[in-house]
Amino acid sequence: MSSFEGFPMDVGPVYEGERIRKEDMYIEFGGPKVDVKCELVLAMPMDEVEDGKVEIVGPDLKDLKEGGSYPLAIVIYTAGTKVEKDLEAVIERRIHDFTNYVEGFMHLNQRYDIWIRLSKKSVKKGLDSLKWWGLALIRLFKSAMPFIEKMQVTFYTDPAKVKEVYEQALEVYKARDARVRGLRDEDVDTFYGCVLCQSFAPQHVCVIPPNRVSLCGAMNWFDARAAANVDPKGPNFPIPKGKLIDPIKGEYEGVNKVVEERSLGANKRFFLYSAFGSPHTSCGCFECIAFYIPEVDGFGVVDRGFKEPTVNGLPFSTMAAQTGGGIQTEGFLGVGMEYFRSPKFFQADGGWGRIVWICSTLWKRIEDAIPEELKDKIATENDARDIESLKKFLVERGHPLAVRIKEMEAPEVAAAAPAEAAAPEAATPTAVPAQAAAPMPFMPAPTAPGAITIPAVGGLRVELKGAKIRIDKIVIKKQ
Ligand code: SF4
Ligand code: ZN
Repeated sequence: MSSFEGFPMDVGPVYEGERIRKEDMYIEFGGPKVDVKCELVLAMPMDEVEDGKVEIVGPDLKDLKEGGSYPLAIVIYTAGTKVEKDLEAVIERRIHDFTNYVEGFMHLNQRYDIWIRLSKKSVKKGLDSLKWWGLALIRLFKSAMPFIEKMQVTFYTDPAKVKEVYEQALEVYKARDARVRGLRDEDVDTFYGCVLCQSFAPQHVCVIPPNRVSLCGAMNWFDARAAANVDPKGPNFPIPKGKLIDPIKGEYEGVNKVVEERSLGANKRFFLYSAFGSPHTSCGCFECIAFYIPEVDGFGVVDRGFKEPTVNGLPFSTMAAQTGGGIQTEGFLGVGMEYFRSPKFFQADGGWGRIVWICSTLWKRIEDAIPEELKDKIATENDARDIESLKKFLVERGHPLAVRIKEMEAPEVAAAAPAEAAAPEAATPTAVPAQAAAPMPFMPAPTAPGAITIPAVGGLRVELKGAKIRIDKIVIKKQ
């Protein structure tokens, strides 16, 4: 790219998919080994931004030891007649793709959770200062978002300074998240969409109504609206919500239409408030994963910061692979942290009454959202590290799912009486635990991943999980 002449590295979208493995890494900033890291964009008055300036507060690349993991705060000051506070989050979210445009750089995640790697190759080619990264960002931002008239970048690498900026950034994120809390989906005619992550997950579309923050957590309804207004050709766009098809699941005619168009026909329906049926897709940068636990018919939730295995034995990283990619996966949903504070939180699936396990790192961040009456009934890894201890905990504490769990625990009762359920001449290979399969009254009957549910007939619901059964004939007679 000619505008990057004189840079020690190349810059362009062609580098976006570049992965830097550990053995090719010169150093990294943030990531799982570093506690404090963040990126922040601030809208400033015009006269307080020195356009094109890049500052490094603390050691620069050449002063940092090869192979290390270091704290980093990136603060970008922007100004322009159209640059308003609402745009901060939108500009901030682009640090991710623009950094990935820089040869030899890999950027993951957002806000307080960033992870940047620099390759040995780029350093060998002469990349000796963070200044180049800052200069590349300024050029990329100003060409993609011409409403930014001035931009200045500061990289903080001094650990004490990073901590200071990190604390401030958390306050800014909190204030942004809080803004949308007073608004309900019913109050607006237009939702907004984002397709920024289609470069990684081509079928993925984020639908952002007021009550469902984007799964990356970085974009709420106000942010997406501001972006769509100022940059109509950009990745954010309005979604006229259209006719409400299902108020509980959160299905809208307008949303379905846009999802189908923008996913190029891959997905046709979105239920905004459910993890079952036609759930929202997940790209890869979700803050948390909600995962269905069939054994207790509830959900566990884990955030990216939790490195241990969750209660189902799988760590975040393993579940992320099956949750992401822009595919609709029932029972696995990527969500943003602010969604836990939504009045529509898993509304169609039983809401908070369906949550059984939250890792302690996430618990700390969303404690204010957990209903008081459930605080001693939802487990963390300190209460349950596997399904058996989870069941025990939920039953002992009287979780709303305890009755259901006890019912599911009692298949022997039903199994003991198969002859009564089926006519003797019909050799039924499986007993039908009618009680156990009955859904809870306050929630719809979900389908577990990989399970086959035969629609209810006469109050009886049959669910076959992980079974390979050949049945020639089933006869079920009334006693
Ligand atoms: Fe946009 Fe969604 Fe990606 Fe966030 S996760 S950047 S809202 S597409
Ligand atoms: Zn994404």
